[in-house]
Parts: sequence; structure tokens; C-alpha cells
Amino acid sequence: MKASEGASKLRAAVEAFFDGEILPRHREWVAHVACHPGAPPFLGPLRARARELGLWNLWQPDRLSNRDYAPIAEIMGRLPWASEVFNGQAPDVPNMIMLQHAATAAQKQRWLEPLLDGRIRSAFGMTEPDVASADATNIATSLRRDGGEWVVNGRKWYITGGAHPDCAFVIVMGVSRPEGSRTGRHSCVIVPMDAPGVKVVRELRFLGWDGFVTSKDVVACLREIGVDIAEAPTSKKDLAKIQAQFNAWHEETGLPYIHLSRICAMSAGENYSADKLDDLGSGA
Ligand SMILES: Cc1cc2nc3c(=O)[nH]c(=O)nc-3n(C[C@H](O)[C@H](O)[C@H](O)COP(=O)(O)OP(=O)(O)OC[C@H]3O[C@@H](n4cnc5c(N)ncnc54)[C@H](O)[C@@H]3O)c2cc1C
Repeated sequence: MKASEGASKLRAAVEAFFDGEILPRHREWVAHVACHPGAPPFLGPLRARARELGLWNLWQPDRLSNRDYAPIAEIMGRLPWASEVFNGQAPDVPNMIMLQHAATAAQKQRWLEPLLDGRIRSAFGMTEPDVASADATNIATSLRRDGGEWVVNGRKWYITGGAHPDCAFVIVMGVSRPEGSRTGRHSCVIVPMDAPGVKVVRELRFLGWDGFVTSKDVVACLREIGVDIAEAPTSKKDLAKIQAQFNAWHEETGLPYIHLSRICAMSAGENYSADKLDDLGSGA
């Protein structure tokens, strides 16, 4: 599927920015997040530069179609922190889209505008330790109206970005109408991180890693799958080598590896889901 001319230019600009400004700083990023919870000092100026170049908030539905945005998002997904440079990181993007659709004017002013501006971060709290959360109808946190306020009772985990020092709020999914049908009982509420009763208990480990990955972890993980480089990747050649070795490892072991975004968004023909989203809407 051919991208529009404007989208092709934006894609080329994002790729040039990635190659010239982001990839060369990857080692520095890995070294920083190994010991600090916040963003490395170079991130702010990089974001400002991307913004000056018009590469900010490209995910906005009124700016690009899904089919035009998908190949751009793919470039941003090449390193774990690259999308943040363009304000295209999860879960802020889906949260911003949700707020654009559903928030009141006051909520937009308080939460959406600073997110669009990159001044705060946000999180999404759906998954719960006590229920099978792959089926969201199981979500059990209660949302109860008490005068002019909502009382939220529940325990969530796997809240991406919930422990980030700039996280200002989490959108929490819960049961607001217990008497409703299985698929009609839930709502989402905005919970400020400093609301009374909000407690961040701990960082979860993921694939054996803590919330912040050390360069040693990266090198050890790459070695595990047969990639022998002294440090984390910083060049296109490194990335190509890792991709080739991932592929060989996958072929040899038959084990799955994480490469879902391209398969889901880009696979040709009828399953081209970005196209389907554009043509049929979010119910596709
Ligand atoms: C890196 C990472 C980041 C995440 N970020 C977030 C986040 O920001 N916010 C958030 O809310 N959650 C987040 N999650 C959590 C993730 O979305 C959940 O793990 C997911 O929803 C699955 O729920 P579960 O863990 O309860 O698994 P379960 O629902 O218990 O599923 C376990 C397994 O059983 C299968 N299964 C479940 N039900 C059925 C069924 N009826 N029939 C057949 N098979 C079934 C599932 O496919 C899966 O293989 C994150 C997870 C990870 C790993």
C-alpha cells in the first residue's frame, strides 16, 4: 500500500532524525536508565528539536491516517525510548486519543493539554492480579459515586509508566454499574497520582528485568540469543545483525519472539490492520 506524498516525506524525516540523533545516543540512554529513574538530560533538547522540525504528535488521527502512520510508528519502535522523542509513546498516545474523544473541556485543559505538550506523562490501569485480565469484562475494581466524587477500590498491576516520576495521572478501568450487562458495566476514570489512597507498591519485573534495564542486562540478553556485541546497539549495522540473529534463533528454537507490531500493522493483503482501521473505524 503506497503512502501519501506528505506521509512519505514525514517518514523520511523521522528516519533521518532517528539515524542522526537518536541511535547514536542509545548507549548513553542505556547507561543512564541503569542508575536513574528519570529521563536522561539529553532527552528534553532532543524532543524540542523534533518538535521544531514538525515531528511532534504525528499520531493525531486528524493528521495522518493509520496506514500513513504505521510505517512511521515502526521507525519509532526500533528502540524502547525513540517514540518518546516524538511524543508518540505508549500509553500516553491511547490515553490522549481517549481524552480527545471522551473528556470534558475542563478535563482536556487539565490533563490532555499538558500531555500533548509533553509536560507530563500518564498511565493506564486495567490489568488486575486477581482476575484473568485478557478478558476485560473480568475487571473487578469498583467505581462508586459519592456526592461529587468517585471512590475507586481495587488493585492494579502491569501499569506501564506508573512509577515514572513525571506520571501525573492514571486512567483506571473499573465497574461503575454492577447491575449492568457483562459488557456494559465498566467505565474509565482519571485518577491523579497524588489522589488520597493511591499507593505505588513496587516496580514489576518483566522477562526477568526490573523496571530499569542495565546495559549489562541488555548484553546478557543478547548473548543468550547468540548476539555477541560488547555493548548495546548504536548503529544500523548492529540492529541489522541483531535482527538477523533473532530470526536465526527463532527458526532454530521455534520459540516466539516479540515482533508483533509489524505483523499486526503491516502484513499485506486482507490483514493489513492499519488499512482496516482507516476503512472500517475502530470496530474493524
Ligand atoms: C510489558 C507489559 C506492559 C503492560 N502494560 C500494561 C498497562 O499499561 N496497563 C495494563 O492495564 N496492563 C498492562 N499489561 C498487562 C497485560 O495487558 C495483561 O497481562 C494482559 O491483559 C493479560 O492479562 P493477564 O496477565 O491477567 O493474563 P490472563 O488473562 O490470565 O491470560 C493468561 C493466558 O490465558 C489466555 N486466556 C485468557 N483467557 C482465555 C480464554 N477465555 N480462552 C483462551 N485463552 C485465554 C491468554 O491468552 C493468556 O495466554 C502489560 C503487560 C506487559 C507484559
